[in-house]
Amino acid sequence: MPNASSNTAVVIYSGGMDSYTVLHRALQQGRDVHALSFDYGQRHARELQVAASVCAKLGVPHQLIDIRAIHGLIDNSALTDAGRDMPEGDYGEDNLTATVVPNRNMILLSLAIAKAVNIGAGRVDYGAHGGDHVLYPDCRPEFVEAMGAVAAIANFAPVEIHAPYLRSSKAEILADGLAMGLDYADTWTCYRGEALACGRCGSCRERLAAFAANGVTDPLGYSSLQPEAAAITRPETAAQQLDSDASARGDG
Ligand SMILES: [Zn+2]
Repeated sequence: MPNASSNTAVVIYSGGMDSYTVLHRALQQGRDVHALSFDYGQRHARELQVAASVCAKLGVPHQLIDIRAIHGLIDNSALTDAGRDMPEGDYGEDNLTATVVPNRNMILLSLAIAKAVNIGAGRVDYGAHGGDHVLYPDCRPEFVEAMGAVAAIANFAPVEIHAPYLRSSKAEILADGLAMGLDYADTWTCYRGEALACGRCGSCRERLAAFAANGVTDPLGYSSLQPEAAAITRPETAAQQLDSDASARGDG
């Protein structure tokens, strides 16, 4: 019988750094974690491959659900439409809406809640985060609280929506993960699916800013770094980065 006292948690895990941190946090809490990833027609499969390999390494059951059948409903986004240009630079009102997938988190949470009920899990964990500016409406506290209220009554047994970083910035999430000893080389953030992260898209720039705020060099290789991001790369790590660039190319 599913119930909130269940130790099992379904973690929505994209392969990115926020959900990677949420996944590890649940594991470190002793939760019996089931990771759930969605293929909703992202322009590349890179982060989904990372998600699968991380779960294999951790011995965490991982389910990848193909929801591309709904692509015709949600294709008006630069994230899901290969024919559209990916905006570069920092997120602002001008280019942000280009990367919004319509109703994304409500769709994904709804499916994750279904899985939770199906396996008797009492909790769905996901990596919504806040900070100084919350850009996406479905990452805001009012959305998560309303979704939680629905999840509590939509089935015979309540499911809790657990968003541990709802009021944390990306830099704070990273700080928590670094304190847990996590290796962020096992994450993928870039909206482009190239061998190396681009360093230019809004997602890369947010990631690099979070590492800069923590005074830590990102272990990922980048094909190009903005001057302010390059400035945080120490000389000795620049050499290591060239090494990892070379091996990343070798891996294809
Ligand atoms: Zn990028």
